[in-house]
Amino acid sequence: MMNRDRLKKLAAEKRFIPGIYNYCDRWCERCPQTSRCLNFSISEEEFSDPETKDIRNEAFWNKLSGILGETLELLKESAKEWGIDLETLDSTNDTENLKLKKMAAEDHLLCRAAKSYSDLAEDWFGERETLFFETAAAAREGVSLEEAIEVIRWYQYFITAKVMRAVRGKIDEEEERFDEFPSDSDGSAKIALIAMDRSISAWAVIRHYAADGDEGVIDIIAFLDGLKQAVEKAFPNARSFIRPGFDRVDQNE
Ligand code: SF4
Repeated sequence: MMNRDRLKKLAAEKRFIPGIYNYCDRWCERCPQTSRCLNFSISEEEFSDPETKDIRNEAFWNKLSGILGETLELLKESAKEWGIDLETLDSTNDTENLKLKKMAAEDHLLCRAAKSYSDLAEDWFGERETLFFETAAAAREGVSLEEAIEVIRWYQYFITAKVMRAVRGKIDEEEERFDEFPSDSDGSAKIALIAMDRSISAWAVIRHYAADGDEGVIDIIAFLDGLKQAVEKAFPNARSFIRPGFDRVDQNE
């Protein structure tokens, strides 16, 4: 298991972009910035042995809780250095308040719509599973059907999670009257929008391959596009949010 000194030494390396993993899509396999991501390097060092890559392997969970323990230790140390008392940050009132905010976010129209999208996608795949995988094996040009499915499946629930995070962040920011820019809610909304852009493109690929011009696909694309516009309206600064490590490198994302 990585010890605290090793973790500290690794964290101090200049190649890492601070906070790069806060607004990414967690798709490390397809990430162009793995070499600049501390999160990725920790996982690689910890799990490079193929045996431990199996998530069902008990050692994986032990390692994970080991990292969590070390990270919490580090957090406590840093908090002390910054004069923050972590113990006083938690109270029953805060817990109640957090619950209420979570409920408010879950009930928000955007969150319900995002959830509807993941259900729509699930139903659509459920109805066509067999046909789909047969066609997927046959399609090998440009963006393949398999790749399109992979993209949709990766973002299917991610979109809901990020829209919820954005909405919840907005509630917090409004309550605490943060008017700082950039805000975390804009960052979450931006990665949700990127996930929607990519999903729409992937659905378009599926439509191209679908022999009978499947009308269900058009409905899903239209729904997702409507959701995207609603999120853009609710978070007008989201598109211009600069995600560390991504948007500075590629502004055309
Ligand atoms: S920044 Fe890239 S490597 Fe790091 S957690 Fe996100 S997707 Fe994975």
